[in-house]
Amino acid sequence: MLRMIKNRRTMVGLEISIVVFLLLPIVFGGCNRSKAKNKTSSKPRRVFVLGVDAMDFGITTKLLNSGRLPNFAALAREGTFLPLQTTMPPLSPVAWTNFTTGMNSGGHGVFDFLVRNPKKMNNGLVMEDGVTRTVGQAQRGSPIPFTKYIWPRESRFELRRKGVPFWDVLEANDVKATIYKMPANFPVSSSKARILSGMGTPDIEGTYGMFSYVTTDSFDWGKGIQGGRIHKAIIENGRVFIRNDGNGKKRPHLRGPQNIFLQKHSDPPIHTSVAYDIFVDSSQQAVAISIQQQDILLKKGEWSPWVRVEFEFIPQVKSAHGVVKFYLKSVSEELRLFISPVNLAPGSDGLATNDFDMELSRSCGLFYSKGMSEQTKAMSQGILTTDEYIHQSNMVLSERIKALDLLLANFNEGCLFFYISTLDLDSHIMWKHHDPKHPARSQTTPVRYSKHIIHRYEQMDKILGSVRAKLQPGDLLYVISDHGFSSFRRQVNLVRWLHQKGYLKYSSQLKARLSQFYSDIDWKQTTAYCIGFNGLCINVRGREASGIIPQYEYDKVVEQIRAELLALKDVNGIKVFSNIYRASEVYSGSEMSHAPDLILGYNSGYGPSDKSVSGTWGGYVISDRLGGFTGHHCMDYKLVPGVLFCNQTLKKKQARLEDITATILNDFGVLPPKNMTGVSLR
Ligand SMILES: [Zn+2]
Repeated sequence: MLRMIKNRRTMVGLEISIVVFLLLPIVFGGCNRSKAKNKTSSKPRRVFVLGVDAMDFGITTKLLNSGRLPNFAALAREGTFLPLQTTMPPLSPVAWTNFTTGMNSGGHGVFDFLVRNPKKMNNGLVMEDGVTRTVGQAQRGSPIPFTKYIWPRESRFELRRKGVPFWDVLEANDVKATIYKMPANFPVSSSKARILSGMGTPDIEGTYGMFSYVTTDSFDWGKGIQGGRIHKAIIENGRVFIRNDGNGKKRPHLRGPQNIFLQKHSDPPIHTSVAYDIFVDSSQQAVAISIQQQDILLKKGEWSPWVRVEFEFIPQVKSAHGVVKFYLKSVSEELRLFISPVNLAPGSDGLATNDFDMELSRSCGLFYSKGMSEQTKAMSQGILTTDEYIHQSNMVLSERIKALDLLLANFNEGCLFFYISTLDLDSHIMWKHHDPKHPARSQTTPVRYSKHIIHRYEQMDKILGSVRAKLQPGDLLYVISDHGFSSFRRQVNLVRWLHQKGYLKYSSQLKARLSQFYSDIDWKQTTAYCIGFNGLCINVRGREASGIIPQYEYDKVVEQIRAELLALKDVNGIKVFSNIYRASEVYSGSEMSHAPDLILGYNSGYGPSDKSVSGTWGGYVISDRLGGFTGHHCMDYKLVPGVLFCNQTLKKKQARLEDITATILNDFGVLPPKNMTGVSLR
């Protein structure tokens, strides 16, 4: 029975932790998935699209000129090298969705990592996930007689994206498509195309990635840690136990998804878990880990291979399957064991279509399925060192290269999209070493760190070299990025600015200081609030739950705030924003009503503080960016263009992401859907 169930795709009942969303039907915003063939020519050919997240036009140009990217240089000579206009805001989910649908945010409805939830503001649920929402409720369903379980109505994720992805348009016209890790595409919708989901894919808990860290170190245990859990370990006769909150101890556990199969409702919800054992051998500088009949021996400095784990909802009947890696940092002075977030195992619901995940794992082994697989959070919080981070990021890249080789070897016809995340995450976390003027840069930065990002560009060039070597006459090759990259030297807390200007009010000054995630805001006296990385919204009467600004004052308020923000200067006189856009200036389409009222174009070097993004008051309005991501791209789109390479000359020289979509359809002789705003560059 168990074996049989193991082979079935399992719905793991995941919930993104940010917020529980309203049940709303997905409507394909007027895009007809017409059965009628739109093909204007039937010439079969291979089109390969390499998506290199965050490949910056300025850096690439410099490296091309200095001869450090020979394969990109050859591609540019052969055909096209252009700046590729990114989206406003230049965020990956937004930008890649423009490419996926050939529309802008006004059409596809993805505006930011986070969007406002105007109707739930009184409950503090001001923001929702901007890409994927959770639908369905736990604890509802049919009871299973004589047991403590129910068979719940499936709790599931839904993509906010509207419009038809280009691979479905291709497949409807008999063009085969394979899509490897397109961001903002979880859960994958059913399709004839072979698809593996990418950025936005949660871990098995349903979060964007919770690592664990088992240590005997004396930590600041009262202080929480972002994106992970610290477990206080004690060692007795060579065996590791975890300290309870009291004085008790227990075996180490891996946390799994919430058990939505339990009849009894509990608050907080009960999660599935897997107990395991760790045995320490200090003389050998090693540990032995025993988990679900698997034994792993790890020496200091070693990563384990992927280890499969099964979380049981109902014993022998229903389980969720994950994969996890262990890394032993040290054992002799203190025990320090890092455990990756538990990634969804191949076969999990929402991960892939047509068993593409199973096919990849059969040929290339288990793999990182969680979006943003690189452990930037663990590094920025001092759990992993810079060298350990680079090693882990290398492991992610190696998996990708293996998959790329396999897919290219079996690429016979149609369109193949392949995505690489390395440049983006490494640039975010390593930028302070790259930028000599960055306030977080240390005087003793090792040369290998300061050259790391350029080294990654050179690795991308080598990957391109191996792709070009496999091209055949008549093949088309595109290399595109979603946006460029820039320094993040000064951070801005918009919540603080809005409060200072009187646009946002708290019930008391003390409450402001204690406030987190939009709590204690006096909405009846609040004019405006910020949302996500680049959005600003007016508290509109009739739209927001406690809106106060009447429609007739809306334009005046929008323009007043825009003018004041454009006049905002740093202590050195530099403008904080280079441009601020009204939604109608950058978007068009049926989803406009979900757009923020203003989209903030930060100047080069500036960006929103983490507190600002989470709707929290603390910190100065403008301050040095000293930790976390020290490089970024959520600024004015004009400042961070991406790149477009093609092995043919393209006629038009002004290119946007959605234009690449239209161009690819054109290459296959397929007419674009009516509401696609991208135009062919040929
Ligand atoms: Zn990024």
